[in-house]
Amino acid sequence: DRPTATHNPASGVKHMKWWGWGVEGVAFHFDDKPKFAPFVKQAVGLDLSGEAPPASVDFSTLTVPAPKISDDLLTELRGVVGSENVISDDEPRVVHTYGKSIRDLLRIRSGDLPRVPDVVAYPGDEDEVQRIVDLAVAADAVLIPFGGGSNISGSLQPPAGETRTVISLDMGRLNKVLDVDEDSGLARIQAGAQGPDLEEQLNKRGWTVGHFPDSFNHSTIGGWVATRSSGMQSDKFGDISDITRGVRVATPSGPLVLRPLPSTSTGPSVREMILGSEGRLGVITAVSAQVHRLPEERVILAYFYPTFDAGLEAMHDISLLDSRPSITRVSDAGETGFTLATAKKTSVGQTVLFKVLQRRGWDLDKMCLSFVGFEGTKAHVARQQAAVKEIVKKHGGMGVGKGPGVLYDQKKFDTPYIRDFLLDWGGAADVSETAAPWSRLKDVYYNTIDAAKQAYKELGIDPGWVMCHLSHSYHSGACLYFTFAFVYGDRDPLPLYEVVKKAIQQSFIDNGATLSHHHAVGTEHSPWLSQDISPAGEKIMKGLFAAVDPGSNFNPGKIT
Ligand code: FAD
Repeated sequence: DRPTATHNPASGVKHMKWWGWGVEGVAFHFDDKPKFAPFVKQAVGLDLSGEAPPASVDFSTLTVPAPKISDDLLTELRGVVGSENVISDDEPRVVHTYGKSIRDLLRIRSGDLPRVPDVVAYPGDEDEVQRIVDLAVAADAVLIPFGGGSNISGSLQPPAGETRTVISLDMGRLNKVLDVDEDSGLARIQAGAQGPDLEEQLNKRGWTVGHFPDSFNHSTIGGWVATRSSGMQSDKFGDISDITRGVRVATPSGPLVLRPLPSTSTGPSVREMILGSEGRLGVITAVSAQVHRLPEERVILAYFYPTFDAGLEAMHDISLLDSRPSITRVSDAGETGFTLATAKKTSVGQTVLFKVLQRRGWDLDKMCLSFVGFEGTKAHVARQQAAVKEIVKKHGGMGVGKGPGVLYDQKKFDTPYIRDFLLDWGGAADVSETAAPWSRLKDVYYNTIDAAKQAYKELGIDPGWVMCHLSHSYHSGACLYFTFAFVYGDRDPLPLYEVVKKAIQQSFIDNGATLSHHHAVGTEHSPWLSQDISPAGEKIMKGLFAAVDPGSNFNPGKIT
């Protein structure tokens, strides 16, 4: 699953589809999933029995604003990176305009392109990045770093009314693992390396970063740092904020060099300021990441719980174990139904299992599927499995072995294609995720589900869908990840989306949770920043951006 559309033949940097997720030619289909269509009918009222709608995206129908760039600036950019690495063709500029949020996809599909970057530059090393940063400041241009373009928080698009030249700085040529300090378990990695790039290079030497977001195939380590990303094995390896031990950043004041250190007491953490900075403090050129030896064994086991509450309580107990698994995840009943509906066939084993559970008094409409990942030495994995087994038993759950876990592991990078499929059929789906202390988690869950349902009611959307899972456990709390979907038919989907999204986000804040656990702020979540970190916190952030970037040249309008 690697990108096939190449927008810079000289360097071979590749991108996702301009209109949707992933690779041209790859799409979600349900002909081999017999339960999918009935599930969708019941969940959002969409009838998939008719003929598939024709693909609604055609680049030739877009009106792309002409590039605005002076000959001088163009010449200077070419002088830095070479003519072949400065591109102002329409398609690459459109690719670099948006990320992949539902708002981005709806806008691109409707040809809503008020402002696209004027030029895309592909630097080849850190020195070239710094020279472009200096050029942008000197020419009072806007510079927007571009990793994989996979963000879903509105972190990339130029402000609609931007009158200055907008340069998209694509980091795709900087994709190497530079070195590995094997004594310390630290790798220096260029910021434009996408997940598979860096894992391939590290795996050959027996190492892994252990950071696997669902967008792994199409996102970069620089983007992970700039958005404070979290991967599904974060319980063991940490979020990118834990993994990142040092960074190099091209800033308007010259290169910022933060050497890799296990810990330090140098005042407020500049490393933490770069984490989540979304291009506003400069361009990350390299990351010193913690790396681990490839595990001897890795296994994901599946469990069912009779209710979501039981599953949440079990995840909490697992998080308190002396030796923690690498993945803790439990879906609510809705998401469990969705997962079962995307299976290719119902196995005999599953039918028997469900009968057994019913005989034990389980309500199959309430049961919840959980995955727990274990990795390390064989002995360690065995110990962890035994400890988890006790906890599952305590909470009335049942282990169902490796089969579903293997499927989950294989399918997780394909699920994003469903969003484009639904859009073809007039349905919108997106996500909102958060983190909260364990003591608040159930309130966050129930009140947010209610808030989404209330929003659907107000909009006259019946049925509207919302489902949730817990993933990423910590000592003091966990992440809850909500997916919502509805059919908009002939109505304008964006205002509908905004009502549901707003209800969910506000419920997070009102119930003691954060505006986002790992999708960053961008423009999508910035309305909740002040409520999340208090007005004084927002003032500190604004002061930081103004001090580092007085000309507001770096990705203006994001975060705050
Ligand atoms: P981009 O989208 O290109 O950029 C994001 C922001 O970072 C922009 O503001 C950009 O200017 C800035 N930026 C990028 N590179 C640099 C750099 N070198 N220097 C300075 N600033 C830079 N996120 C998760 O954390 N976990 C998940 O499991 C996950 N799953 C996802 C699944 C799907 C289907 C989708 C669509 C998104 C998912 N995301 C997930 C969100 C997204 O993949 C992350 O936010 C990711 O970290 C973005 O990386 P990117 O390289 O694509 O950055």
